[in-house]
Amino acid sequence: MIAHVERHYTQRIGWLRAAVLGANDGIVSTASLVVGVAAAESARAGILLAGVAGLVAGAMSMAAGEYVSVSSQADTERADLERERRELEMSPERELAELERIYVDRGLDPELALRVAEQLTARGALAAHARDELGLSAMHAARPVQAALASAGTFAVGAALPLVVAAIVPTGNIIGAVSVSSLLFLAFLGSLAARAGGAGRLRGALRVTFWGALAMALTALVGRAVGTVV
Ligand SMILES: [Zn+2]
Repeated sequence: MIAHVERHYTQRIGWLRAAVLGANDGIVSTASLVVGVAAAESARAGILLAGVAGLVAGAMSMAAGEYVSVSSQADTERADLERERRELEMSPERELAELERIYVDRGLDPELALRVAEQLTARGALAAHARDELGLSAMHAARPVQAALASAGTFAVGAALPLVVAAIVPTGNIIGAVSVSSLLFLAFLGSLAARAGGAGRLRGALRVTFWGALAMALTALVGRAVGTVV
């Protein structure tokens, strides 16, 4: 028998979406920072210093935010599993009936549902309830450290792009070069994420470039205004 392998969007969208969102954040926040500081007519050293500080601060805040949110998700999952384990210990018959009901609701005949519930319970009651009652699976288990590192890493990679551009172009061209190159990076990432998610590439690209352009324009305005006052 030839195994039929299917790759569904949901299987690959999870980590890709997180990676693209992290990189988008890095590009938008650091490019805006660089453009804003450059609009205040700072020297290249000041612009790069602000950019690097923004990269580190942004990566750390992404990591902290992701770690805290995924940890609390992990806490909730652990508490749910612990309660399920206790219920299985205290009232196994009621839990078996609950599992049977879940399978009947999914369309199985009551007789077959009971047999499936009995067999899966025999193979591992907690695993069966975790998967079919709580919707928890090992594949999607919350991993706070991995999530924090991935989030900080993708932010840092995104943030490095406008910084590299700001470091190599003539000082007078920093605003233009960083704006245009960052919008191109954003358009590419936006279309990549859209394609991976099975959505329209153009719409994906336009959506993220619009917000990126708006963020850079606003910070350039603020930078120019503050630059003339300070
Ligand atoms: Zn249960």
